[in-house]
Amino acid sequence: MTNKTINPLISIQDLAKVYGKKENTFKALRGVTLDINKGDSLAIIGKSGSGKSTLMHILACLDRPSSGTFLFEGQNINRFKNRELDTLRNERFGFVFQQFFMNANDSVVDNVALPLKISGVGLRERRRHALEMLKEVDLVDKAKNRARDLSGGQKQRVCIARALITKPDVIFADEPTGNLDSVTGGQVEKMLLDLNKKKDITLIIVTHDDDLAKKCKRQIYIKDGQIQKGGK
Ligand code: ADP
Ligand code: MG
Repeated sequence: MTNKTINPLISIQDLAKVYGKKENTFKALRGVTLDINKGDSLAIIGKSGSGKSTLMHILACLDRPSSGTFLFEGQNINRFKNRELDTLRNERFGFVFQQFFMNANDSVVDNVALPLKISGVGLRERRRHALEMLKEVDLVDKAKNRARDLSGGQKQRVCIARALITKPDVIFADEPTGNLDSVTGGQVEKMLLDLNKKKDITLIIVTHDDDLAKKCKRQIYIKDGQIQKGGK
């Protein structure tokens, strides 16, 4: 990988995403241009169905654009093979989703350790790391519990621990407080913003919540697949 200080970290130009085929197509993104610098905290705001998650999934290399350019640290992502994107995602990005996406029957510690398992780290080593991460989110006492037995707020903290275990450069959060009550949501929100401020992790948050959005350094408003405000 190239020098980590390259800015912008992410640069997309005239990005479009079309879902479906033939007469059943839907243009979810229509020409999005955006630069994101290392250390930014960016809120992606907009009504339901406006294209926020679609944009975040493309930025996070979980999906590919239909057209447009996408540079990550100056490298053209369109040319990456799927396997290379998987590696980039696993090594450089962390994910926190509204729906958690944990392995419900696995232990908390093994859920946190999953990205290291994917990287090929051995069991003892990855569990040791996972326990350290659980310390950071104050959940060491739940390490051996099954993930499904946790409360919503605890699950999201486990997800943050899992996101942190590879020391990511970017954390992508899609409605991270959407399934939480306001107090618990506030704690999760603070944790994410602190990671940006204290560890300089670039933070990209999709949210409905204007208050959370205002706490980010930048906000972009998406409407009908286009940036209305706050773009490049
Ligand atoms: P948001 O996150 O802002 O609520 P999404 O990005 O999820 O919006 O969706 C944007 C639009 O694209 C919506 O109209 C949605 O129905 C449509 N869409 C999303 N995913 C798919 C898909 N896999 N196939 C077809 N249409 C989709
Ligand atoms: Mg969404």
